This record gives sequence, C-alpha cells and structure tokens, in this order.
Amino acid sequence: MGFDTSGLLPLSDALQGMLEQLTCCCDSEQLPLPEALGRVLASDIASPLAVPPFDNSAMDGYAVRLADLASGTPLIMAGKAFAGQPYHGEWPAGHCVRIMTGAPVPAGTDAVVMQEETQADGDRITFLAQPEPGQNIRRAGSDIGKGDCVLPAGTRLTPREMPLLASLGVATVTVRRPLKVAIFSTGDELKPVGTPLAHGDIYDSNRYGVRAMLARMGCDCLDLGIIPDDPAQLRAAFIRADEEADVLITTGGVSVGEADFTKQLLDELGEIGFWKLAIKPGKPFAFGRLPRAWFFGLPGNPVSAMVTFDQLVQPALAKLAGQRFERPLQLQAIVAEPLKKSPGRLDFQRGILSQGPNGLEVRSTGSQDSAVFSSLSRANCYIVLERERGRVAAGETVTVEPFGGLLL
Ligand code: AMP
Ligand code: MG
Repeated sequence: MGFDTSGLLPLSDALQGMLEQLTCCCDSEQLPLPEALGRVLASDIASPLAVPPFDNSAMDGYAVRLADLASGTPLIMAGKAFAGQPYHGEWPAGHCVRIMTGAPVPAGTDAVVMQEETQADGDRITFLAQPEPGQNIRRAGSDIGKGDCVLPAGTRLTPREMPLLASLGVATVTVRRPLKVAIFSTGDELKPVGTPLAHGDIYDSNRYGVRAMLARMGCDCLDLGIIPDDPAQLRAAFIRADEEADVLITTGGVSVGEADFTKQLLDELGEIGFWKLAIKPGKPFAFGRLPRAWFFGLPGNPVSAMVTFDQLVQPALAKLAGQRFERPLQLQAIVAEPLKKSPGRLDFQRGILSQGPNGLEVRSTGSQDSAVFSSLSRANCYIVLERERGRVAAGETVTVEPFGGLLL
C-alpha cells in the first residue's frame, strides 16, 4: 500500500482490499441469554428441541376421528384438553374431545374442528362441516426440527432472536466479546461541546457521530477526545490507542496538505495506505495496521466522515467482530426534481424517499456539500448515483438505499 495519486480508487476495490486482510479478532465467552443482547453468536445454534414439541391444536374446538363422523350423527364429548393439561382419559368410538388452542391433541386425533363449525347440545356435539385430515393440527417439528440450525454463527442478537432462543430453552449462548474501538478527532480548530468557541473554532461533531454508530454496532468505545495537530500529542494518542484497542478510528488529517503530516507519523508506527476514493462525499481515506491495532482514518468533513464510516468502516468492523453483515436493500425510485452530478465518482447523495402516486419518489435534501450536516439529518435514504452518470433529470429512475442500519 503506497501513497496513491495515480487515480481514484473505486469503493468496491477499497472494501474488498480491506476485507481480504481482516479476520475476526474477538474471543468468545458464555453468557446467560438475557445478558447476550447485542452480542454476536460465536457458533451456530442447533435446536435442542422440535418446535412445536408435540402435535397440538391450532384452534379452540373439538378433536375428532374422521371415522366417527362418517355416519353424520352427533358425537359425545368424552372430556377436555387444555394447554398444559392434556386429556388422558378414554376416548371410545362415537366420542370427541373438547380442545383448546395449544393443547396436545389426544392420541388418534385426525383433525380439530373449530368451535364455530359445531353446535353443542349439552355434551352432544353436531359437526356442521366435514373436516380435512390433519386440519387445525400443528404437527410436532413443523416449525423447527430437532438439530436444525436456527441461527448461524455471526448473528447479532436483537429483540427478534431473543424470544426464538428462549422458545428452544436455550439458557446460555456462546458469543464474541465486543470489539474495542479507540477514537479521536484531530484538528486545532475543534472544541468539545460545553465549551465556548474562540474565533476560528468549531465544535467537534464527528466524534459524536462515530461514537453513536459504534454504540449501534455493539462495539466498546475508548474515546480519546480531541487531539491537536501536534506531532508529539498525535504520536502519543496513536500509541495509546494501539496498546488498548483492537481498532483506531480517527477523523480529519487525511486530506491533501494534512496527510503528509499524519502519513509521516503513521509510516513510522505502522503500515498505512492513504487512498483517494472514487466516492462523493468522502474522497480521502486511510487504512492500515499499527503494530497491534487496525487503523481507519476518516475524512474531517462531517458528512464524509459519516458516509465513509457507513460504507467502508462498518463492514470492516463487522468482520473483525465476527458479525455477518449485509447492506440494506437497494430500491428503485423516480427522481422528483433534477439532481446535480458530475461523472467521475460514485455519489451518495442524501435524499427524502416517499410514496408518490406512481410508486417511490425521491428528492434531494438540498445542498450536497460535505460540510452541510443538515443534508444528512433531513434525509431518510442515500440516492446512489453511478460513477459515470452525469446530471439526472426529473423522471429518471435512480437507486436509493433507505437508512435503516447505522444511519437510521
Ligand atoms: P481535515 O480533513 O482535517 O482537513 O478537515 C476537513 C474539514 O472538516 C475542515 O473544515 C475541518 O474543520 C472539518 N472537521 C475536521 N474534523 C472535524 C470534526 N471532528 N468535527 C467537525 N468538523 C471537522
Ligand atoms: Mg484537520
């Protein structure tokens, strides 16, 4: 990896180049199920049970044998089966069993007839419709077979997985420890929120965005604050991050003019590539190795920092954390107003997606300058415009990627 000035690197090449080098670096541990929310499974989960574990009724009604219904005469109710209270009694010919949803069907049941299709006269039950064999019976194992893989390794446990695992009686799970990520912002002009600004200062916003995205991913964050553009302080921060974390993410200091400075320092400490990506926003980007930790250097411009994190760093962190990762769905939408675009870079414009009279419609959030943060905060999707595409006229079809992952 060298200092590449020969051309712009396509996003997909950059991503592939990084992912090829990365492997999961997080050990596994056992945790009680409730404590594992947000963690990543270290191994496949095979079901210890069949689900449902026994044949049971899908309706409130009557368990019947089809042969008993052939004559058309009413059946006598032999007894009752409730969820948690199976019917164990005799079931002579010409009888049926009153049954509730979730109750085990008595041995010999051919079908369950829903209550609404019967008439009761004391314990004499008349059946108004002829049931199909197996009707309203949930068969043992019809949802999940014993030994089936229910969740593959790499699944992050969310509220959707917790009840599934509980339904299988899984009390402890083997999960990865969280990835530890150090972050700092660079720039003499940056001040933390809660302090006054002198002329020429701005508030450090990137660190709050990166922290929030790391929290969503379930990473542990070591926040090293703001580091001024001073070689000695930067050097100390790089060394501390390398000693204490799996990954270091910085923002700022990778654009032309500042890159030489950071590059000199990082070349001395590790092996870092400075890339010019063929994406907009987010051209400058650095990636490589410190002695122990991986390093991602994001651009300073706030929108560029968020977009490069989302598109490049998020999949890389997922791989390091052992997490399966899929990009959100991409959809096609009609552009409601013209979009500015020059060929040469893959654009991630910020858009507002809505349901129009003829399908999905999208419009720009306004200025797409990478310093204009409101372009992102007002958006609900990216408008992804291909590298060689130019200006887009109203009515053209474009690809959109609704926010729903980190950039919700
Ligand atoms: P740089 O990449 O350091 O040259 O910064 C590019 C632009 O982003 C400059 O206008 C910086 O002031 C701004 N910037 C850099 N870091 C941050 C940050 N943490 N928060 C807000 N703006 C930043
Ligand atoms: Mg700077």
